[in-house]
Amino acid sequence: MDDQISKAMQQVRVVFGASIRKTIANEVRRLGASRALILSTPQQSDAAFEIAELLGPLAAGVFCKAEMHTPVTITDAAMLHVKEIQADCVITIGGGSTTGLGKAIAYRNNLLQIAIPTTYAGSESTPILGQTENGAKTTLSDARVLPEVILYDPELVVSLPVTMTVTSALNAMAHAAEALYATDRTTKTTTMAMDGLKSFVDGLPRVLANPSDLAAREVTLRGAWACGTVLGQVGMALHHKLCHTLGGSFGLPHAETHAIVLPHAIAYNAHAASAELQPICNLLGGENAGLALHGFAQKMNAPLALRDLGLQESDLDRAADIATTKPYPNPQPVTRDDIRALLQAAWAGDAPSTLDKSGYRG
Ligand code: NAD
Repeated sequence: MDDQISKAMQQVRVVFGASIRKTIANEVRRLGASRALILSTPQQSDAAFEIAELLGPLAAGVFCKAEMHTPVTITDAAMLHVKEIQADCVITIGGGSTTGLGKAIAYRNNLLQIAIPTTYAGSESTPILGQTENGAKTTLSDARVLPEVILYDPELVVSLPVTMTVTSALNAMAHAAEALYATDRTTKTTTMAMDGLKSFVDGLPRVLANPSDLAAREVTLRGAWACGTVLGQVGMALHHKLCHTLGGSFGLPHAETHAIVLPHAIAYNAHAASAELQPICNLLGGENAGLALHGFAQKMNAPLALRDLGLQESDLDRAADIATTKPYPNPQPVTRDDIRALLQAAWAGDAPSTLDKSGYRG
């Protein structure tokens, strides 16, 4: 990670608490701003207008057209709006899609950002920006895209449907799981990754028992912050490569895909990175971290099969080809045949296959 990004990450102001969004006017003033543009998806426009109301004269405009994968066409439209209303800060209220639009604007004009996340995706705490143009997704890392302030308000996550709560949580947990064996991990990132995983293992069952439990929702938001922060600090491997392929080339939904692939990718690496993944076994029980995560996903009623997301069995060969074209660091060597087998199991919703000590995949 470059020094500028590392410094910017340390300077982010992060606040947790029920109703914390109601302090938004103070946060805008604290930044020395006075003309805020509020961003959301069309589905969350009510939340965006609530923020505008809380801001009163500090609100200069509302733009509710954020979309998944940050299309450049939408960013261009938002940039026109920024200019028109002479915005001096952006406030994002929503999941990774809305956060992404705020980051794309800040990347272009270095505008101040306040992020109010409403999912567990964790984009708000990474310097990473993914954008799509003419159907192609590119990713960059830059200190400018980091929000200055993040407000985690558990009241806003209560409306997240239960299925999305589970898939979004597993999406966040995937960042932490891969951080455990990242080649550039540190003791600090490993501790933070485990903090994130523990938060979800503790908080998610409580949230599912009572989705309005604000204390439990706050625990899961703390997990989202920890998992997002490690995603921003270390490189990802097989899991993220597979999800990038399935999302980018086959249009599969982000959180659901991450949730389904997670146990399979970790089981694939469980033998080669057994020591690094041991804390997951300690946390969830069992001897294979991938199978342990599969058991947790089953208990949380998570989706388990890529075919349920609309992926065709006939797509699996091409997906295996794309995911293995370029080499990347991964604990277990990545071979086309092994990845094809992994995808078959994830497609069918089978338990992940595992490697025994002699390297036999059973
Ligand atoms: P999302 O932001 O696309 O949200 C999905 C849907 O749920 C949207 O319609 C949204 O309005 C709605 N929603 C969100 N929160 C809600 C709530 N509390 N109540 C009711 N509805 C709610 O989904 P996501 O999984 O958060 O984000 C996915 C996007 O984020 C992808 O484009 C992904 O690439 C990106 N992402 C980026 C990073 C990064 O570091 N750059 C990290 C993670 C995800």
